[in-house]
Amino acid sequence: MKKFLLLALLTSALTLTAQTDQRIYDIIDAVSPERIESDITKLANFGTRHTLSDTVSTTRGIGAARRWIKSEFEKTSSECNGCLNVFYQKDLIKKGANDRIVKDVEVVNVLAIQKGTKYPNRYIIMSGDIDSRVSDPTNFTDDSPGANDNASGMAGTLEAARVLSKYQFENSVIYMGLSGEEQGLFGGGGVAQFAKDQGWEVIGIFNNDMIGNITGVDGTISNVDFRIFSEPVPPTETEAQRKARRFYGGEVDGVSRQLARYVHKNVKQYMPEMNPMMIYRLDRFGRGGHHRPFNDAGFPGIRIMEAHENYTQQHQDIRVEDGIAYGDVLEHVNFEYAAKLTAVNAINLASIAWAPPAPTTVKIGGIVEPAAKFQWSKVDGAKGYKIYWRDTTSPTWDYSRYVGDVSEFILEGIVIDNFFFGVSAVGENGFESPVVFPNGIFR
Ligand SMILES: [Zn+2]
Repeated sequence: MKKFLLLALLTSALTLTAQTDQRIYDIIDAVSPERIESDITKLANFGTRHTLSDTVSTTRGIGAARRWIKSEFEKTSSECNGCLNVFYQKDLIKKGANDRIVKDVEVVNVLAIQKGTKYPNRYIIMSGDIDSRVSDPTNFTDDSPGANDNASGMAGTLEAARVLSKYQFENSVIYMGLSGEEQGLFGGGGVAQFAKDQGWEVIGIFNNDMIGNITGVDGTISNVDFRIFSEPVPPTETEAQRKARRFYGGEVDGVSRQLARYVHKNVKQYMPEMNPMMIYRLDRFGRGGHHRPFNDAGFPGIRIMEAHENYTQQHQDIRVEDGIAYGDVLEHVNFEYAAKLTAVNAINLASIAWAPPAPTTVKIGGIVEPAAKFQWSKVDGAKGYKIYWRDTTSPTWDYSRYVGDVSEFILEGIVIDNFFFGVSAVGENGFESPVVFPNGIFR
C-alpha cells in the first residue's frame, strides 16, 4: 500500500516538473532592475534622442545614443563568445516624406541577432525604440529625455539580450532598437522590409513601447497590470480569406492574436503575480506603435506595455503648468516594474525560441457530425501536437488535449459549431509553438 502511494506521489511529482521548466524561472530571476535603471538613466541623459537630432556629438543626440546601444550589445556579445551579430540597419528618409520629416534623415536601427541552432532562419523579435520627442514632433533640439517613452522599452531589450545570451536556442532571437517611431514608424518599416528582402521567417515581434509607468493619469496605481495589444486579423489577408471567415470563423483569431494568447498563457503559468490584459485591438485608440509595420508586412506582432498611462508625461515639453509637472522624466519610471515586463518578454522569447515551428497547415472537419476532426502538417522537431479549443465567447484557449505524434485526430462528442479550435506543436523539451487556427476545411 505504502509502496503504491509513494509511486503515485513520485509519478505526480514527475508530471508536475515536466509541466514547467526551471530555466524559465531562472530567466525571470536574472532580469536586473538595477541594470535597467542604469540604462534608462544613460539613455535619458543623451538630452534628446529625437530622430532628427545631432548625430555627431558623443554626449547628446540620437547618434550618441545609438552608438552606445550598439556598444552595449557588443559588450553582451563579448561575454558569450560573440553569440550576437550586432549591426546597423538604415534607410534614408527624404525631407517631406511626411510633416514630421523636416529634413533628410538617415533612420538608423540597431540589431543584435542570436542565431538559432536548429532553425536559424526563423526569428522571434523583441524591440524597443531609440528615439524620443517633446510637444512639437519636429522639435529636435530641446531636452527630450523620453525616460518611459521609450528608454524603458530600449533598456528592457538590452537587458533581455544580457539574460538570454547565456542560453542557446533552436530558433533565432533578435533584440533591436528602432528609430523614427515618433516621426511615423519609419524604423520598424525599414526592418520589416529588410526582413522580407532577407527571406526571414518572422515568428513574431514583441514591440515594447512604454513599460515603466505604474501611475495612471486617472490615479490608478498598479505594478502588476500590463497590456498586450494585438490586431484581430492580418491586414494582408485576401478577399477569399475574408469571405471564408464569414462562414468558418476566425474574426478574433489572426496570427497576432495567437501570439498575444501565447504570451498571456505563459505569463499566467510562470509569473502568476502579474495581470496580463489582452486588448483586442491593434493599438491604443488612434495611436501607433512599431509592431504595426511588421503587421503590415504580414508578420505576427504585438505591443506589450504598461496598463495605466500618464499623458502629462508623454510627448511633453518639460514644464510646470497649473501646478502639474509635465515631461517624460526619470523620476516617473518604476524600474522594478520595467524589469517585470522585461521578464515577460524574456520568458516568451525563450519559450518560443526553444519550441518547434507551428504546423503550417491545419484543416478542420466535422460539419453535421457529433465530432470535430483535424488534420495537420507535421513539423520537424515536434514530439507531438496539442489540440486546443474554447467557447466562442472566451478570449483564451481553455481546453486542450495532447494527442501525441500523429497528424490527424477526432475529438469525439465535441460539436464543431460550439467552439473555436487550434493546433500547436510540442517539442521534446515541452516547449510549444503558438496555436494555429485552422486554415483549411475537409469533409
Ligand atoms: Zn511616443
